[in-house]
Amino acid sequence: MILEGKVALVTGSTSGIGLAIARAFAAEGASLMINGFGDTQEIERVKSELGAVHDGADMSDPAAIERMMRRCADELGGPDILVNNAGIQHVAPIDSFPPEKWDAIIAINLSAVFHTTRHALPAMKAKGWGRVINTASAHSLVASPNKSAYVAAKHGVAGFTKTAALEVAREGVTVNCISPGYVWTTLVENQIPDTMKARGLTREQVMNDVLLAAQPTKQFVTPEQVAALAVFLCRDEAASITGTNISMDGGWTAA
Ligand code: NAD
Repeated sequence: MILEGKVALVTGSTSGIGLAIARAFAAEGASLMINGFGDTQEIERVKSELGAVHDGADMSDPAAIERMMRRCADELGGPDILVNNAGIQHVAPIDSFPPEKWDAIIAINLSAVFHTTRHALPAMKAKGWGRVINTASAHSLVASPNKSAYVAAKHGVAGFTKTAALEVAREGVTVNCISPGYVWTTLVENQIPDTMKARGLTREQVMNDVLLAAQPTKQFVTPEQVAALAVFLCRDEAASITGTNISMDGGWTAA
């Protein structure tokens, strides 16, 4: 139970990678604030499973983020651990990419990381201990066609992570990103029809020639693998890991 006494806030933790991270933190004894959208009954079930508080702040709304951060401080006394994980995707060529989708992806995948972090750092610095973990992506290092906003946002997250790490390096606070390759979640499943359309491929071709083809292991990364790395980054033994972008992508970016 290495996280007993710690408060963790995981954005976008009602499904996929964020939910796996929340579960792994709860198993290590952390008190949790979860965030994200979804079916009310399912959110209630996850809340009682994890003993968590849920805040439904929309990560594209800086005022809602500020309220969530204040609530996390008032109700739980945290966060000591902030995981910026909420994210969305849209797949389309640049010349037909809807500008409102661009704005939403930049707001949720990138600007929200700035807003949560700026509210979280003062208390972490005062305590002399903190962990900020940003779920970036292999797309923070390499591009794919038709994902301009996502690739731009994730490259931004990697740059922000380095800068934040330098600013708090002497205060006991580490800031890192984890960059998974393809993980089988709703986010990936939902991009298949648009990828089929943008590239003129069948569903099977997208699965085999786009998604699995990117990863030399020919396997999807699992949410639990990402969660185990997030737990490791919270250990005291990880205190010297900061400002890094750790790939967990089945060899994708090595290829
Ligand atoms: P997912 O769709 O299962 O989970 C996304 C989570 O974000 C959900 O809880 C959803 O409710 C929440 N969310 C979406 N919009 C939100 C908003 N405006 N405000 C608050 N919460 C919001 O997808 P996932 O694959 O688990 O994605 C999690 C993170 O992992 C994202 O940042 C994504 O970019 C990143 N990622 C995913 C993959 C992959 O292959 N699945 C690979 C690399 C990185």
